[in-house]
Amino acid sequence: MSTLLTAEEARKLLDAAINGNLPDERGRFGPFGGRYVSETLVPAFDRLEAGVKEHLHSSSFKAELQKELREWVGRPTALSFAPRLSEAWGAEVWIKREDLAHTGAHKINNAIGQALLAKRIGAKRVIAETGAGQHGVASAAACARVGLPCRVFMGAVDMERQAPNVDRIRRLGAEVIAVETGDKTLRAAIDEAMREWVTDPDGIYYLLGSAVGAHPYPYLVRELQSVIGAEARQQMLDQAGGLPDAAFACVGGGSNAIGLFYPLIGDDIELIGVEAGGIGDGLGENAATLATGTPGVLQGSYTIILQDDDGQVQETQSISAGLDYSGVGPEHALLQATGRVKYISARDNEALEALEELCAMEGMLTALETSHAFAAAREYAKQNPGKRILIGNSGRGDKDMPTLTKYPARIR
Ligand SMILES: *Cc1c(COP(=O)(O)O)cnc(C)c1O
Repeated sequence: MSTLLTAEEARKLLDAAINGNLPDERGRFGPFGGRYVSETLVPAFDRLEAGVKEHLHSSSFKAELQKELREWVGRPTALSFAPRLSEAWGAEVWIKREDLAHTGAHKINNAIGQALLAKRIGAKRVIAETGAGQHGVASAAACARVGLPCRVFMGAVDMERQAPNVDRIRRLGAEVIAVETGDKTLRAAIDEAMREWVTDPDGIYYLLGSAVGAHPYPYLVRELQSVIGAEARQQMLDQAGGLPDAAFACVGGGSNAIGLFYPLIGDDIELIGVEAGGIGDGLGENAATLATGTPGVLQGSYTIILQDDDGQVQETQSISAGLDYSGVGPEHALLQATGRVKYISARDNEALEALEELCAMEGMLTALETSHAFAAAREYAKQNPGKRILIGNSGRGDKDMPTLTKYPARIR
């Protein structure tokens, strides 16, 4: 339990979360979230918020989204029992397979939802940011699908590190803009996309890729990703005969994790978010935002961030590009403060070991991001024998082959 909330406040806020009453009218999850943006961006956010209110829960939008999720994304994704891993771990292990979704990860759930929303609110074109390129690929694909031009902002450093994804984005018909400002990575790409948005808030739709940023994005992305947890919950009841004792998901910005956890927060299930522990505990050696960070404002939201004593935002380090971010979604900050979700971290080498084990024992090449969740689940299973465990497999690892090739496999 954090010192940010009294026990009474924590209990009330958790009740509100479970009853679907968060965020509040101002986009706040208790003390977290909100909208800390410059005056020039307020009209753009207001317009987006009005669009979300009008369409997101309308029956015609929901029907259109459902159809795309079924026919194009490939939902529902499977829930797989993992027999060999279960035996090795002394647990009952179930895996929710977002790796089987179109373009290879959960990101498409959000991208197609927002692309459909962009069409409804009359946007003429879409802009998006990307770090590792996965959200860029999902956005480009979704925009091609709905017939909107798409421009993806990507840090110059990331473009070099993730060259194959730059090519994928272009082939899917989107334009890639190299960002040469700031840290030349994800944070600078988000800033640059915001700058472009201001120039034409009526014509442009900004398709943000995780449950971060100013209101209404954390809410919008959670709603679109909750399909993961809603499906998994029903599948556990149908296939496993009951809910899990514990559920694990990796946390970068926190979109796949909130998608899995949100439909489970009212249940008696231990929820565990796993961040990137990088190479060590020192500031700058990891991306373990919730595990080691402090409250502050980053990119429009009051949340937990990695900063030094002067409030300078810190660079992060992780073997997985998708977890390499110095902030985290505000709803996770609240779920941690209320004690409902526990956030821990796994190091680079632990993630690599878990990836190898899953590959060799279940025939699933998972993403490096996801491997952090497997590493933590494995540790939990060792300490809590006989538990039923659900793991959110956020994406597949084919994109990580250039990194993995540098680490020879030990299991044969
Ligand atoms: C982008 C990505 C993540 C991290 O993003 P979240 O918003 O925290 O879910 C995790 N896993 C995969 C496979 C990704 O592509």
